[in-house]
This record gives sequence, C-alpha cells and structure tokens, in this order.
Amino acid sequence: MAELFYEDDADLSIIQGRKVAVIGYGSQGHAHALSLRDSGVDVRVGLKEGSKSKAVAEEAGLRVVTPAEAAAEADVIMILVPDPIQADVYEESIAPNLKAGDALFFGHGLNIRFGFIKPPADVDVCMVAPKGPGHLVRRQYEEGRGVPCIVAVEQDATGNGFALALSYAKGIGGTKAGVIKTTFTEETETDLFGEQAVLCGGTAALVKAGFETLVEAGYQPEIAYFECLHELKLIVDLMYEGGLEKMRWSVSETAEWGDYVTGPRIITADTKAEMKKVLEEIQDGTFANTWIAEYKAGLPKYNEYKNADADHLLETTGKKLRKLMSWVDEEA
Ligand code: NDP
Ligand code: MG
Ligand code: MG
Repeated sequence: MAELFYEDDADLSIIQGRKVAVIGYGSQGHAHALSLRDSGVDVRVGLKEGSKSKAVAEEAGLRVVTPAEAAAEADVIMILVPDPIQADVYEESIAPNLKAGDALFFGHGLNIRFGFIKPPADVDVCMVAPKGPGHLVRRQYEEGRGVPCIVAVEQDATGNGFALALSYAKGIGGTKAGVIKTTFTEETETDLFGEQAVLCGGTAALVKAGFETLVEAGYQPEIAYFECLHELKLIVDLMYEGGLEKMRWSVSETAEWGDYVTGPRIITADTKAEMKKVLEEIQDGTFANTWIAEYKAGLPKYNEYKNADADHLLETTGKKLRKLMSWVDEEA
C-alpha cells in the first residue's frame, strides 16, 4: 500500500527557512512560485533575458532574475522549464551555481531517470509533482485546497531530503489533498506510459478510429462526433467519481452488456502485448532518447503529426459543433 502524507506530516517552516528559485514560469512554474510566496516562502523566479513570461511574473509581484542568478541566490532550485531543455539550462545556469547542501527539485523525473542531468553527490535531488495541470494547482491553492502531489527523493545528501520535499509540497497545497511517496523511476515510467498508452495516445486513437468507422459507414459526422468524443466526458466523469462500477450503474443495461462483450474485442491481447512493448521502450530509454533528438532537430515529425490531425474531420466537425453548444467552454 502506498504511503500517504497530509498536513500534519509536513513542517512548512523547513521550506520557509530556505531560499527557493523557481526556474521557468509556465504552467507549473507560476503555480509553484505564487503559492510558495503566499505560504511565506522566499521565492525568486529564474527566466532568461527576453523571456515572454517575465512581465507576467513581475506583474504578479514576483522578483525575476536570470536562471543563473536565481540558482546562485537560492539553496532550493526547482526546475520547471520544458523537459527537453532542462539539461541545457542545468549545464549552463544551474550546475555552476550549485553548492554543497543545496537541493535540486523537479516536477517530473525524466531528466534524472534517463541521465540527461547528473547532479553532484553533495546536493539533495527531490521531486514534487502535482497530479494536475499548473492552473488547477494554483486555483485549488487559492481556494484553500490542493491538488494531490507525488514526492520522491533520488539523492539524499543532507539526510533531510524527504522532509524538505514534504514541506515544499505543503507550500503549494499538496498536503491538503494528500501526498504519495514514490521514486523518480516509478513516477517517470508510469507518467510516460499513462499518457502514451491510455490518457492521450490511447484515447485519441480510440476516439478517431470510432469516429472514422461511423463516418466511413455513411453516418453523419456530427452524430459520430457526439457518440465518440463528446459523450466521453460524461463516461470519464462517472469513472472518476466511482470507478467502472459507477459508470456501469449509470449507463443503460444495453450499454453495460455492450461494454462486456465488445470492449475486449477492441482492446485485445494484441493491444496489451503492444502496451508491454511500449513500456519496455520507455524503461530502456528508447522513447526518451528519440523524443529529445526530435526536439533538438526542431520538431519535424511532431509538427507533421500535429498538422495532420488539425485537418481531421473529427476536429473540423467538433469546432463547428462546439460553437453551437453554449455550455461547452473552449477556454476551460
Ligand atoms: P511550460 O512549457 O509551461 O513552461 C515554460 C516556461 O519555461 C516558460 O516560463 C518559459 O519562458 C520557460 N523557459 C523556456 N525556455 C527557458 C530557458 N532556456 N531558460 C529559462 N526559462 C525557460 O512547462 P510546464 O509547466 O508544462 O512543465 C514544467 C515541468 O513540470 C516539466 O518537467 C513537466 O514535465 C512538469 N509537469 C508539468 C505539468 C503540467 O501541468 N504542464 C504537470 C506535472 C508536471 P518563455 O515564456 O520565455 O517561453
Ligand atoms: Mg507527463
Ligand atoms: Mg449512446
């Protein structure tokens, strides 16, 4: 059973006694920097010259310096720039400014797990990863709640790494919701697998294949869109609230019977065998290396895939339909 930690398990004064640098001010960066500041923590934001986020952070009342200055001033350095550029930012701005006893923090374990960043032995290496997008992390904090976080310590040079990470998690509201202890390896591998096989990749491919099947059989794209994409939210909400059981309780008996007899014909033993291969390619670093190489090459294939799906009938149909549905908020 996973180890869970709540408000009383974390001592906020630990992080309040440190100087924190948040490098990057995007989805996660803004949520961490603002919530730590509001928790009484000494925070500075590190952004490169000419950064678009600089004005936004300054308007929110934060002090912005360069990543190198932030790392030099601080003794807790949270790296929240995009994963593929973290190693460059680390080499250039952070590594030269690390002192013994400092702590290097991450919101995702990819660069440590696959060795793109190799910190010296005399610093703590910790992770605090909220299980939600940054804007939700911030909103929940402002409302006096929190988003669950997972916390890990890869290298405990000071012996206090875990208490420090829990304290940081408390500073962004995580212990209000609950913090689960994990490792960099488990977080990285499960995160990559989940988003590829189920959440993003698996779901997008399933929706597209279902939609195409109906349209190719002559049904109206608008009807196919509702059946294969729009209604997915209602089903996922039920699963979120009460697992498969609540979803099956709520749908018709006909739908439930179809679930039992057809589901296993769609996601077959072959699909699961492919999932195992996907997991192996994550574990052995193939995926991470390919992705970093693609990023460094200027994202040629990534843009090709992106453009191909932008013109898909599923997307053009959805755009038209969502305009007619006043209750669907495109911004949400
Ligand atoms: P974003 O893409 O939202 O962050 C971009 C930020 O990094 C911007 O402020 C950008 O500045 C800045 N930046 C880009 N290049 C540099 C540079 N060379 N030097 C300094 N700053 C730079 O990132 P996310 O918040 O999505 O991800 C950050 C980390 O959090 C990742 O490790 C990710 O895996 C993890 N994470 C993200 C989640 C999410 O909800 N998005 C959820 C959980 C974990 P500019 O404005 O100038 O471009
Ligand atoms: Mg991820
Ligand atoms: Mg139906």
